[in-house]
Amino acid sequence: MVGIDLGTTNSLVAHFVDGHPEILVNELNEGLTPSAVAVAQDGTLLVGRAAKDRLINAPESGRSFFKRDMGTAASYQFGGRRWTPVECSAVVLREMKRIAELRLGHEVDRAVITVPAYFLDQQRQATVEAAQIAGLKVERLLNEPTAAALAYGHQENPDLSTLLIFDLGGGTFDVTILECFEGVVEVKSSAGESRLGGEDYTDALGEWLRDKTKWKPEDMDAMRWRELVEQAKRDLSTADSTVIIVNGNEVPLSLADFGAATRELTARLRPVVRRCLSDAGITPAHLDGVLLVGGASRMPLIVSALAEDLQQPPSRSLDPDRVVALGAAVQSALIARQAAVRDLVLTDVCPHTLGVAISKQLTPGQIQDGYFSPLIDRNTTVPVSRSDTFHTLHPQQDEILLQVYQGEGRMVKDNQKIGQVRVPGMKSQPGQKRPGEVDVRFTYDMNGILEVEVTILHSGQKVSEVFEQRPGTMSKEEIRDAIARLTPLKVHPRDAPPHRARLERAERLYQDLRSVERSILTALIDQFERALSSQEPAQIRASAEELDSFMSPYFRDEA
Ligand code: AMP
Repeated sequence: MVGIDLGTTNSLVAHFVDGHPEILVNELNEGLTPSAVAVAQDGTLLVGRAAKDRLINAPESGRSFFKRDMGTAASYQFGGRRWTPVECSAVVLREMKRIAELRLGHEVDRAVITVPAYFLDQQRQATVEAAQIAGLKVERLLNEPTAAALAYGHQENPDLSTLLIFDLGGGTFDVTILECFEGVVEVKSSAGESRLGGEDYTDALGEWLRDKTKWKPEDMDAMRWRELVEQAKRDLSTADSTVIIVNGNEVPLSLADFGAATRELTARLRPVVRRCLSDAGITPAHLDGVLLVGGASRMPLIVSALAEDLQQPPSRSLDPDRVVALGAAVQSALIARQAAVRDLVLTDVCPHTLGVAISKQLTPGQIQDGYFSPLIDRNTTVPVSRSDTFHTLHPQQDEILLQVYQGEGRMVKDNQKIGQVRVPGMKSQPGQKRPGEVDVRFTYDMNGILEVEVTILHSGQKVSEVFEQRPGTMSKEEIRDAIARLTPLKVHPRDAPPHRARLERAERLYQDLRSVERSILTALIDQFERALSSQEPAQIRASAEELDSFMSPYFRDEA
């Protein structure tokens, strides 16, 4: 079993070994694999770095940032067909499985996968489906900040501390407050925004640059432009100013400019932190530490805003890019009950209020519908099971359509519908006890998935419906079809055996050669590697021939 951080921009896989979580690196020796999928001209499916590189030159050939669309009906056209966000995520998860198997040398078929705490039910379901398509059984969906807390709790094991985890990733923002006490990690509260992250800072900086340079979309390729802006943003994480070069013009950019251009975004972070503190019933003075998670939490303007609001500097003891995956690996060990984590216990909370739609009688004869009646309050410790009693509106009513919502609005129109349960058989015989009444039980598990059970009180009959009408939910057949569609894909040319063999042979020869001959060989290997990553068959063939003809005299004996 492994732990996987399926990120908006990058994904990581980790496992637990010798009492510690450890990141498994890909063939490029990188822990971070870009969450990008593309299809090359010859139909090869690319994932990770190769896909990201291809998207720079051919943005229409694939997709990144699909995590933001999980659980929606969105789809993308590339490689000659339509792709859903679930399928794109499945490709990334399958790649993480492959990397793990490569490093561990055995099959990996179970995983703990992290999701933003603020992921709604549909988004969680979509993540489980993506894993199924990738051939992974999800042992647990773990909230990302909780995973960070686990990694921290495992590493530091502090006697008693109340921590605030501030997680600003590429596309999502989460705040969690938890208590670590003698190996018990208890989540007190969590809050967040599912559409706010580092990419929004890049967008805002792009707007600023557009205003400054009067750049028009046709002047420059959109992906290249984004790379440029992204780089400038990153520069400002280690320097007070930088210079952006657009079409030969130098545009100076200071930290203050960046702060002004993104002021509205930073302002949206503050109320979330405040709400999380108030839900936990504490003030900043109670916090023993503030932990940063997510690549975007590196931005100095975020760090200083936090330090000011929380009256203490955030800690950087764990790498914000890796901490979530490490925590997922700790969780996987917890599930497998490995000795080193036997003393670590985790409790989590449900991030949203869950309830049903009800009608109210305002005055006799005047019935108003659309009210939200909560059953499980947000930030209740999970697993949790709560029930409440409801009744029909009319004595003759034979059916209840129980509509399930999540959210914080008083009216259901302001909340998100997650499903409905049809309850027939409500009409009772005269004389029966509790006519027209139902007991509705909500059970919310550690994966953040809700089950609803309705008991008709006069008959004792139960309906425990899995939700209907959940947008984006796939049937068993659909999952099977999706697996079939992804199966015949080809491998990356770099991994094709003849190319691997050629490179290995070149490497061997390199060790034997010196000076000029060595330089020529180096140039030819570089050229071949460039051709492989370009994925263009003609280029690959030409550079392979050149390399072979240079090498063949040296291997004449072997042939
Ligand atoms: P994650 O989803 O955690 O991988 O976060 C990725 C986000 O972090 C992207 O929006 C990146 O632009 C941003 N990011 C990564 N490194 C830095 C950095 N050094 N400075 C500012 N933002 C960064």
